[in-house]
Amino acid sequence: SDSHFPVPLTPSHVDYSLHYPYFFPSDQDTADDNGDVAGVSQAPIPICNSKIRFVDVGCGFGGLLVSLATLFPDTLMIGMELRDKVTEYVKERILALRVANPGQYQNISVDRTNSMKYIPNYFSKGQLSKMFFLFPDPHFKEKNHRRRVISPHLLDEYAYTLEAGGIIYTITDVEELGDWMRSCLEGHPLFEAVVEEDLEKDPVVKLLTSATEEGQKVARNGGQTYRAVYKRIAPQAVD
Ligand code: SAM
Repeated sequence: SDSHFPVPLTPSHVDYSLHYPYFFPSDQDTADDNGDVAGVSQAPIPICNSKIRFVDVGCGFGGLLVSLATLFPDTLMIGMELRDKVTEYVKERILALRVANPGQYQNISVDRTNSMKYIPNYFSKGQLSKMFFLFPDPHFKEKNHRRRVISPHLLDEYAYTLEAGGIIYTITDVEELGDWMRSCLEGHPLFEAVVEEDLEKDPVVKLLTSATEEGQKVARNGGQTYRAVYKRIAPQAVD
């Protein structure tokens, strides 16, 4: 249950030195005799005042984060994942990548948490520029629709944490869920569909089907996917 994992009280309680020790060394890290920080030897420590900007909600085994890490090396990103063992796997995966590739993969991390409850504990208003919902659990039965990670109510929270111009990426191989996610986004006053021309220019869009473990499985089986990519718009000024 939720009591088994710590939850940050507010976004300023998220421990960046734990997630990104290369960018936010703690006193302990710097005290290391060899100057090693999580497998980075003798590297100059860059100053990073930035906050987390991308979140992969229900990141699973972390394939998207791993692909994004080198595409956006100066952007901090995090995966939120409910399953303990899967989260531990992703942590190990990231640590191994950091050791094998000094100076790289320092900008990605993962936390075990329930994204449906705790998004506002992690991110402040307008903090995020991208949110990913790739192949979320479908929850087919009508009575379980409230468990879906995209819903009118949760979109209010996502709109709050996204900056104006920030983007929500969703994709699924379940047609009914694809229709549901699109209609929730379409019906929300603070989101508008990203036009096809912009989707083609966005390097991230190609990763939606190719980078995650679930996406690769669907591609191997020749399954169809249903994508909805929406932009957070600024609210209209009221006269
Ligand atoms: N996005 C990954 C991919 O494309 O490979 C994983 C997709 S998997 C079908 C859905 C993931 O969402 C699972 O790993 C599940 O544990 C996670 N999940 C479900 N509900 C969640 C929640 N409320 N908070 C965080 N993660 C959740």
